Amino acid sequence: MLTDTHTKFLKGAPLAKQIKASVSVRTERWKTCGVHPKMAVVAATDDPAVEQYQRINSQNAEKLGIDMRLINLGVECTQEELESRLEELSNDRDINGILLSLPLAPHLHTELALARIPAQKDVDGMTVTNLGHVLAGREDQAIVAATPKACLALAESTVSLMGKRVVVVGAGRTVGKVLIPLLINREATVTVCHARTEHLADIVKEHEIVFVAVGKARLIGPKHLRDGQLVIDAGINISEQGVVGDVDTNAVLDMVSKITPVPGGVGPLTSSLVFHNLMQAMVLQYGDTDD
Ligand code: NAP
Repeated sequence: MLTDTHTKFLKGAPLAKQIKASVSVRTERWKTCGVHPKMAVVAATDDPAVEQYQRINSQNAEKLGIDMRLINLGVECTQEELESRLEELSNDRDINGILLSLPLAPHLHTELALARIPAQKDVDGMTVTNLGHVLAGREDQAIVAATPKACLALAESTVSLMGKRVVVVGAGRTVGKVLIPLLINREATVTVCHARTEHLADIVKEHEIVFVAVGKARLIGPKHLRDGQLVIDAGINISEQGVVGDVDTNAVLDMVSKITPVPGGVGPLTSSLVFHNLMQAMVLQYGDTDD
C-alpha cells in the first residue's frame, strides 16, 4: 500500500514558526526597554546528539536576535569546574537564561550541577523547583522542560489527551520523567516503560498514543505497534545514515495514524520552546514589559 507521507508526518516546523514569531516580537520589546535577552548554553560532554542540539539552538538564537553564549567545558571537565561556571552564570545579571546540556560526561553529577541554576534562569525547566511545580500540577508557576512540552504540543495539535491510554517508553531525566506528570495533569491514563520493562511490545500495542524517549536508534518497530496509533518520537540518535529517532519510522508508517519525523518533528519545536521559556524567565527576572 502506498503511504501518504504528507498527512502522516506530524512536523514541528508549523508550531515552531508561530512560537518563534512571538519570541521575536517579545525580544524586540525587551530591546526597546534597554534589555538584550542573553542565554548561556553549557555542555560538558562529547556526545554528538548534544552538539547537534546546540547547533540548532545557535542558529535559532541568531535568527531571533538573542545573544547566546556556547560554553563547552569538554569531556574532561571536573565537577568543581562545572559547578563554579554555573554559579558564575547564575550570578551574572546580564545572563537571563542558563541551559545545561544533558547528558553530561558520565563522571559528572547532573543533580548537583542543576542545583547551581536558579529556577528563574532555568530555561530548560530541569531544576527541582520547576519540576516540583509540574508535579504539583502548578504548570503556571513553572518553566516547563522544552522537550516534553514539545512532545505534548505535537500530540495535542492532533488529539485531546484527556482520558486517553498513553504509554511513555523511556523514563529518563530529560524527557520521560517530566512527560509523565505533564500527561497526568492532562488527565491521560499513563503507563511508563523503561529498560527493565518486560513484554514491551505487548504493552506498547495496548495504547492509543505512544511517546518514545529512549536514545536507541529505531528501537520501536512494527512488532511494538498496531494500526492507528499516534507516535511521538523524541529520540535523537546520530547514526551512519544521519540523525534517526527511536522509532523505525519507515517501517511503521503504514500502521500509525500520525508520527513525528526525525529529524523535523520534536527537535525544531523543542528549540523554539527553549526561547519561549527564555521570555518567561525574563518576565520572572524583570516583570512584564506590558506593565
Ligand atoms: P536517558 O536519561 O538516557 O533515559 C533513557 C530511558 O530509556 C531510561 O528510562 C531507560 O531505562 C530507558 N530505556 C533504555 N533502554 C530501553 C529499552 N530497551 N526499552 C525501554 N526503555 C529503555 O535519556 P533522555 O535524556 O531522557 O533522552 C531520551 C532521548 O531523547 C534521547 O534520544 C535524547 O537524545 C532525546 N532528546 C531529544 C531532545 C529533542 O529536542 N528532541 C531533547 C533532549 C533529549 P532505565 O532508566 O531503566 O535505564
